[in-house]
Amino acid sequence: MINLCFHGIGTPPAGVPAEEAAYWIGGDTFRRVLDRVADRPDVRLTFDDGNDSDVTVALPELVDRGRVAEFFVIAGRLGRPGSLAAADVRRLRLAGMGVGSHGLHHRVWRRLSQADQHEELVVARSWLEEVLGEPVSTAACPLGRYDRATLAALRRLRYTRVYTSDRALARPGTWRQARFSLRSGDTADDVGGWLQHGDRYPARLADSARTFVKGLR
Ligand SMILES: [Zn+2]
Repeated sequence: MINLCFHGIGTPPAGVPAEEAAYWIGGDTFRRVLDRVADRPDVRLTFDDGNDSDVTVALPELVDRGRVAEFFVIAGRLGRPGSLAAADVRRLRLAGMGVGSHGLHHRVWRRLSQADQHEELVVARSWLEEVLGEPVSTAACPLGRYDRATLAALRRLRYTRVYTSDRALARPGTWRQARFSLRSGDTADDVGGWLQHGDRYPARLADSARTFVKGLR
């Protein structure tokens, strides 16, 4: 199967860091992608960062189409301007969507001190559990970055599924799930290419360079 990862939808509000704005896509592109995957139950939809547009744009479109998705929320941004409020997160759950953790501060989960790792993997999750009144057991690695120690910690803390941004097809039941993240320039046709050719579909140059470097580590 193939996992897609969306971030913000629409025009990024002022104050969104450039490295996050690069992942915002237009509403039209979003709707075209949803239409493209309408008859593809093997496509799983995920949303990172807990932007406002999760409930103002994505949720109604998903409900219209009878689709479920999983939302990875940055706990430390709850209630901030441009981000989901606690009530929004509950609304997502009530609509049948999944909610997982994207950490506390949107920092990379590699080489963290013990205290920082505790904040990112334990505190963030417990805040979300408090908001939802139920266990949270899935996570998505901020900025798609992780290492062996990150994965070991996530396993130790009994996360049941962890999403990366590794641009590869995924097997339905596996613990680590690769995803294709849409970037600002991507179109529904690009998504069609991923559906058809998986990671053999040419990525944008920056992406392939990064994956290459990662492969060398
Ligand atoms: Zn993120």
